Amino acid sequence: MTIRFDNRVAIVTGAGGGLGRAYALALAARGAKVVVNDLGGARDGSGSSLSAAQLVVDEITAAGGEAMANGASVSDEAAVEKMVAFVKERWGRIDILINNAGILRDKTFAKMTLDDFRQVVDVHLMGSVTCTKAVWEVMREQAYGRILMTTSSTGLYGNFGQANYGAAKLALVGLMKTLSLEGAKYNVKTNTIAPLAATRMTEDLMPPAMLEKMGPETVAPAALYLVSEEAPTNVVMNAGGGGFERAYVTLTRGIHVAPEDMTPETIAARFEEISDRKGEIVPDTGGAQGGMALGAL
Ligand code: NAD
Repeated sequence: MTIRFDNRVAIVTGAGGGLGRAYALALAARGAKVVVNDLGGARDGSGSSLSAAQLVVDEITAAGGEAMANGASVSDEAAVEKMVAFVKERWGRIDILINNAGILRDKTFAKMTLDDFRQVVDVHLMGSVTCTKAVWEVMREQAYGRILMTTSSTGLYGNFGQANYGAAKLALVGLMKTLSLEGAKYNVKTNTIAPLAATRMTEDLMPPAMLEKMGPETVAPAALYLVSEEAPTNVVMNAGGGGFERAYVTLTRGIHVAPEDMTPETIAARFEEISDRKGEIVPDTGGAQGGMALGAL
């Protein structure tokens, strides 16, 4: 099986460098027409320039592919709508959206201002929401759509100094879960990638020997599969340096007690049993989990 993207139109946000650039190049190499979106600011979100996106477009066209540059900020509703309308007019459809744009404002929670928190949530969470909302109806009407969210090990498992980033990144997993359900009838599939790669975002966080083996192109295969025709839905995949894993939100079997035992003391006494991971499951939906709780009554 060869995965191709001929006649597919893809928008990749934050594609002027790092992971987004690798996704854009890989999609174009396999036949997609690609919108290379990037605000072109600094790592903390300050400033802007279209030149980074244009350089990636130049690389794609030099290799015989088709691409256009776009400088919309992902959280600017009007600019994103304009981008989507332009792409629709020029290429007629939008099959793939990779929500990849991001910034960092790392500080301990004690030192973090609410502005640092809001800015990061605005780009990662609201930027992904804004871009997804702008293509959602297009994809539903086409009865075809593939959306990729970008989470992080920080969102899934936590990281010192990244409270804002972790909160925004795990929110995207929640967004994916509901969009997977709501998009199913329309063949709109939503997945999430948790990348690990050497980019300007991580250049001072990983040792040089590791950076060498962790180029963004080592993440692209997972991203491409997750936006392909064969894509699953509702999947969180970790990827980087040749490693590919899946992350799940699991539920333990827990305990079910009579009303007279519903006390904090029971919880304290049986906490290990509640936490026991033997036989844990992954409910398909929130409703399924609620149904199981009801069923146990
Ligand atoms: P990067 O800084 O190279 O890329 C992010 C890009 O997003 C930049 O080119 C930037 O200009 C663009 N951008 C920022 N704000 C924007 C906005 N408002 N509108 C449009 N574009 C904007 O970093 P990267 O490592 O390639 O990160 C890509 C994504 O992967 C991010 O969402 C990041 O959080 C996530 N991620 C990266 C790693 C890693 O190991 N590199 C790990 C976990 C998650």
